[in-house]
Amino acid sequence: MTTSLAGTGNDAATMGAPIEKRPLERYVAPAKPSLVGLSRAALAEALGRIGVPERQRRMRVQQIWHWLYVRGVQDFDAMTTLSKELRAELDRHFTLARPEIVAEQVSVDGTRKWLLRLPGEAADRPHDVECVYIPETDRGTLCVSSQVGCTLNCSFCHTGTQRLVRNLTPGEIVGQVVLARDRLNDWQRAAAPAGTDPEKRLVSNVVLMGMGEPLYNFEAVRDALAVVADGDGLSLSKRRITLSSSGVVPNIVRAGAEIGSMLAISLHAVTDELRNELVPLNRKYPLRELLEACRNYPGLSNARRITFEYVMLKGVNDSLADARALVRLIKGIPAKINLIPFNPWPGTTYECSDWEQIEKFSEIVFDAGYASPVRTPRGRDILAACGQLKSATEKLSARERLALRAMAMTD
Ligand code: SAH
Ligand code: SF4
Repeated sequence: MTTSLAGTGNDAATMGAPIEKRPLERYVAPAKPSLVGLSRAALAEALGRIGVPERQRRMRVQQIWHWLYVRGVQDFDAMTTLSKELRAELDRHFTLARPEIVAEQVSVDGTRKWLLRLPGEAADRPHDVECVYIPETDRGTLCVSSQVGCTLNCSFCHTGTQRLVRNLTPGEIVGQVVLARDRLNDWQRAAAPAGTDPEKRLVSNVVLMGMGEPLYNFEAVRDALAVVADGDGLSLSKRRITLSSSGVVPNIVRAGAEIGSMLAISLHAVTDELRNELVPLNRKYPLRELLEACRNYPGLSNARRITFEYVMLKGVNDSLADARALVRLIKGIPAKINLIPFNPWPGTTYECSDWEQIEKFSEIVFDAGYASPVRTPRGRDILAACGQLKSATEKLSARERLALRAMAMTD
């Protein structure tokens, strides 16, 4: 099993709602597809289809790769190392399209949120996903979506209450990184000559913490991250890419072997009883199996730790006994614990823990030897914080959307 849901935990769903949802739509490729996000092999194949002789393909792929991912060009005509004829031929059959930005919001803290429009199975029913850029003093993190909606239905997560619509393609995932570089004018900084500090680039880190469960879209995420990490292209080291999962155990094992990024696990509870309620996938892959997979994740060390995410829910999972149980549970795993203040959304019955309680909880974790940063909610004014994605777009009126769209086009 990877993304197939045949014979899923729905069989075991005698205890409540189904664990997993099924995609409602397939991706339908446009007549003129984009080259953004193709692997080198797929790019070579695409060139073959338009008649580029086999002996030339490797070199052409290398050249196009450079234009796409080092120079960030958006037009075949700018690919000046290719002959005019080849550029025209490419233009006839392909595009360099990124996902379409329909709105851009900039928070007072500098966080930017892009609302992206992706094609739907029916041309008149496109889908929206969001992508968030979070600037910090020592890094700039891009929070990327992997699905329209989410396969799972964690009870505290707004995305989880929505229907799953479809998986993103590798092109749509890579496209988010590419469009962030476009919008932030980051290409020149990112391509700074050898010897200069590559961390001056604005997009220095990528986290798969947007909409969706990345490990239910395994192949696309794997292939996209290979492009993002490619040293001759976007060149983000795997240590700067973090994949966050709610615990799809078999695919955590695969991710260790086939992706090799950093791993974050949405833990949120220390007993199976509570986790079954918060993260229903736990009924399929209980804590013991999840922690075993974490323990065996390849390459862990003090410099390469697993991040355990823990959302702070008032009176639900935030007792000091929970904090002590948490450190016992992860004993022996090189880890840091990321405490996330719960971000409420319309209709939720959960509340965020009191600040004092979060501090006490954090102290216990810290005293046990774990870094336990409390994730400062970023971009709250534009509803870009964890678990708020998508709700924002539903809240915008048509008029607000139009205004934002106009803003995105003019600045
Ligand atoms: N599906 C993946 C990645 C996306 S969610 C996962 O679950 O790991 C990124 C993080 O935000 C997860 O830890 C998720 O549990 C958390 N989250 C979801 N809804 C939230 C909310 N309303 N408030 C705070 N954190 C939330
Ligand atoms: Fe999906 Fe993650 Fe939200 Fe759970 S927390 S519903 S896995 S996006």
